Amino acid sequence: MADPDAVVVGAGPNGLTAAVTLAQAGLRVRVYEGAATVGGGARTEELTLPGFRHDPCSAVHPLGAGSPVLRALRLDRHGLSWIHPDLPLAHPFPDGRAAVLARSMAETARGLDRDGDRYLRLLEPFAGRWDELAADVLRAPLGGLPRHPLVYGRFALRAALPAAVLARMFTGRAARGLFCGLAGHVTAPLTSPVTGGIALMFALAAHEVGWPIPRGGTQAISGALASLLASLGGEVETGRWVRSLDELPPARAYLLDTSPGQAAALAGSRLPSWYAGLFRRYRHGPAVFKVDYALSGPVPWTAPAARRAGTVHLGPSMAEIGAALRSAHRGRAPDPPFLITAQPSLFDPSRAPGSSHVFWVYAQVPNGWPGDLTTAVEAQLERFAPGFGDLVLARAVTGPAGLAARNPNNVGGDIANGRCDRFRLLLRPVPLPVPVPYATPNPGIYLCSSATPPGPGVHGMCGYHAARAALRRVFSFR
Ligand SMILES: Cc1cc2nc3c(=O)[nH]c(=O)nc-3n(C[C@H](O)[C@H](O)[C@H](O)COP(=O)(O)OP(=O)(O)OC[C@H]3O[C@@H](n4cnc5c(N)ncnc54)[C@H](O)[C@@H]3O)c2cc1C
Repeated sequence: MADPDAVVVGAGPNGLTAAVTLAQAGLRVRVYEGAATVGGGARTEELTLPGFRHDPCSAVHPLGAGSPVLRALRLDRHGLSWIHPDLPLAHPFPDGRAAVLARSMAETARGLDRDGDRYLRLLEPFAGRWDELAADVLRAPLGGLPRHPLVYGRFALRAALPAAVLARMFTGRAARGLFCGLAGHVTAPLTSPVTGGIALMFALAAHEVGWPIPRGGTQAISGALASLLASLGGEVETGRWVRSLDELPPARAYLLDTSPGQAAALAGSRLPSWYAGLFRRYRHGPAVFKVDYALSGPVPWTAPAARRAGTVHLGPSMAEIGAALRSAHRGRAPDPPFLITAQPSLFDPSRAPGSSHVFWVYAQVPNGWPGDLTTAVEAQLERFAPGFGDLVLARAVTGPAGLAARNPNNVGGDIANGRCDRFRLLLRPVPLPVPVPYATPNPGIYLCSSATPPGPGVHGMCGYHAARAALRRVFSFR
């Protein structure tokens, strides 16, 4: 078999998107994946009982549905179909009421009582502008002038603020809780800059593209990318952990879907020592504690809206959510934890047998935290869904060490491949303002994982931008 033009290490969503982008340009591409199957953080497995199809990592995909590159790849032709839950998100309170993030901005605002007008003022300027905004937000911040400077500028002014500041625009617990819960998708305290932008982006995504789940589970995204890659002549070898680039066939470009620390180890002397040092000192953020449940019935939420939502956030106030995220960031277990939960089988019966269900939950904990959060997770669930415990048929519990063992990119259980506080979401993987953060001083080596902008999430944009950089620099594509 001929040597490839380009090699990708790691078949996560970014590695696969990078490989597809290179193969679309006519290059011979080979991907090496250590795990037995492709997918990385986008996979589906029977973690508990036969027939219960869990997503061990990502489950809900506003960034996938709204990703400029994944949309352009027409993954529907390779088996991906999105299911939109009745409601993208519910944020219930212990008294049985709930704030909801609906597909419609107006419906969402109506549920926020006196804060509804403020919600509209915050988001309406961006209604119908997702494509323009995503093109500028989901890329390297210094990668050139924004294509839509007015929309982007207006967004950036708000987005740079901490969620704790933006949330104070609201006066009621519903809007504040909803907004802070959205910011809780990033592993940073609510007081950190840019967390307001995360909340805005997730809210806007619900109105513009939805928060869908893939039919059959998240593996469908990876399966579709792998199928597209195969149709373009790309090759994937699974079950092959790469320890050094020296083990790999010669190629003009190597794209690494890894942590920066691992990239330094794989590249060895191919990277100058000062740059490898920056990669080795790259800092990882809080971890998550994940529980996947097999349930005999749907979660008995007190709030009726939560029974119609794909995602349900559990943190009854801005103060409680803030304290939980701060604890994880400062090295303490959250008490009580802020939970992000998903209930895919309510909308996709193929995920669990008969009337039973799969249920997906995680909370942020400190990096490398060795404890067991299961009791605290279930106490929090009982607060909003009394009787939850009676439905549990089986549970698969994965703490930081388990996440890291499953995928070396989850260093210490960090699912974001790096700290996200301060401006670290924008300035990664090196703390320098570089226009092409995917490139390294070695023109043949690129980092294409979520340790590069725009950071975590199943959107493939890191892989796409890294591949475009390699195409320009090594293969003279414009
Ligand atoms: C518990 C959890 C929940 C999440 N929830 C969501 C969610 O709901 N929505 C969302 O959008 N995102 C979510 N994410 C984040 C999302 O999964 C990641 O941001 C995304 O998968 C990153 O993609 P990637 O390609 O950069 O890396 P990864 O998905 O981590 O893939 C990297 C791949 O490289 C392989 N690899 C690494 N080193 C080597 C090596 N040396 N040799 C060979 N192979 C190697 C790994 O095995 C892996 O397959 C979640 C993540 C986790 C863990």
